[in-house]
Amino acid sequence: MASAPPFETSSLVGYPPPPPYEETMGTVPQYTPGPMPYPQTDVKATQPPYPQQAYGQMYPPPPPQAQPVTTPVVSVQTVYVQSGVVFRDTPVLVHCPVCTQHVTSQLEYTSGALTWLSCAGLAIFGCFYGCCLIPFCVNSLKDVTHRCPSCHRTLGVYTRI
Ligand SMILES: [Zn+2]
Repeated sequence: MASAPPFETSSLVGYPPPPPYEETMGTVPQYTPGPMPYPQTDVKATQPPYPQQAYGQMYPPPPPQAQPVTTPVVSVQTVYVQSGVVFRDTPVLVHCPVCTQHVTSQLEYTSGALTWLSCAGLAIFGCFYGCCLIPFCVNSLKDVTHRCPSCHRTLGVYTRI
């Protein structure tokens, strides 16, 4: 009987057949679950990632502001001011700083500018022979000096002009 021609495998001659799949895959290292290279300790469960201490301890409260102590400065000055006292040609009740008491001023009339002007005016208008000296006898034309009756200190001067 005529046999079928053999399968032409001559073209494959010279090429060794590839190794079976099982042999090829058997050499591949199989993944075997083993101990992990890193310890799998549950860090989150044991301790928090950062210390949960009170932040108030980390940041202490600021020290209380030192309130500036303002002490009222009380300065007592004794000023002798004859406020409201107007020296005219009449005695006035004033405070004498030397006697430290209220006294009534003593008047002293002295010849001032008005006295001399009056004398000159009378001389111009013909009042010779002593008539021009009348203003030196009139107190209303003289300046007034207020003195203390006790210590005779000058408390004020009133000038006509
Ligand atoms: Zn006095």
